[in-house]
Amino acid sequence: MATLLEGKKVAESVYSKILLDISLLPTIPKIVFVLVGDDGASKTYVNAKGKKCTDLGLQSETLRLPNDVSEEDLLRKISELNKNKNVHGILVQLPLPKKINKARVLAEIDPLKDVDGLHPENAGRLLQGEPRFSPCTPAGVIEMLKFYNIPIEGKNAVVVGRSEIVGKPMALLLLMQNATVTVVHSKTSDLKAVTKAADILVVAMGKPNFIGADHVKAGAVVVDVGIHRTPDGLVGDVDFKAVEPKVSAISPVPGGVGPMTICMLMKNLLTAATLQQKK
Ligand code: NDP
Repeated sequence: MATLLEGKKVAESVYSKILLDISLLPTIPKIVFVLVGDDGASKTYVNAKGKKCTDLGLQSETLRLPNDVSEEDLLRKISELNKNKNVHGILVQLPLPKKINKARVLAEIDPLKDVDGLHPENAGRLLQGEPRFSPCTPAGVIEMLKFYNIPIEGKNAVVVGRSEIVGKPMALLLLMQNATVTVVHSKTSDLKAVTKAADILVVAMGKPNFIGADHVKAGAVVVDVGIHRTPDGLVGDVDFKAVEPKVSAISPVPGGVGPMTICMLMKNLLTAATLQQKK
């Protein structure tokens, strides 16, 4: 039977350290979530992040802006948050409405408050192997693999997906751990041939139950980043029932990568508060 990579369990162990670190800070870190429009999933994610802040005794606030907010107004709001010394972290919940230039908005965030790690300066630091804030989901995957003592160095790691928020930073973080990394995407000609060679397979493609038993090597470690609401409940990008019997370890959905994403956000907020205190 495969080992279940339970993000919930890993997150609890990280939170106990975070609580200790909070107690050593002179001020309680504060994060502001910028929520544009009324997308249901975005609201749910922001609520979950805010609740975790409350649980840990961290401060959080949600700045709600209408769907038709202008790009200039949004940039002005971010600039105000940048200047506010009581705000240590800023997270613009994605996706933004199509008419807003996402890259411009993310680049407006003070890089020292960029707890999602998506500002070009932070993305560049990650590329250079000197991350300040790593994007939360891929950072959570690495934390989870380490918690379960899964060797990464020298392994063939395959990342399915190349988004800015998951796939690309995931590949860089695995590379930093000395894995041999391959990234596949929708234009890859023979997906199965590549995924079947993976010792560690991280799937972030946004396609429910897409990865089946014939995509994986026997004994592989499979991390499922995908999350989809279906009439049968939450499912990932991996067909868990089909894949689990074949592999040595697998993350479930829910309870796998999801809790790690919020956990790494809290860790990044603490880092942000510490960096600003030093400054
Ligand atoms: P995106 O839609 O931005 O990216 C999906 C990637 O998958 C793209 O690079 C795309 O390729 C690739 N892809 C799509 N179809 C195929 C295919 N048939 N074969 C190979 N590659 C394919 O998604 P995200 O990275 O933002 O998210 C991925 C999943 O992870 C989603 O389900 C999302 O909800 C979930 N998620 C979960 C989080 C968590 O906390 N657990 C956090 C963030 C995301 P191409 O670039 O060529 O289009």
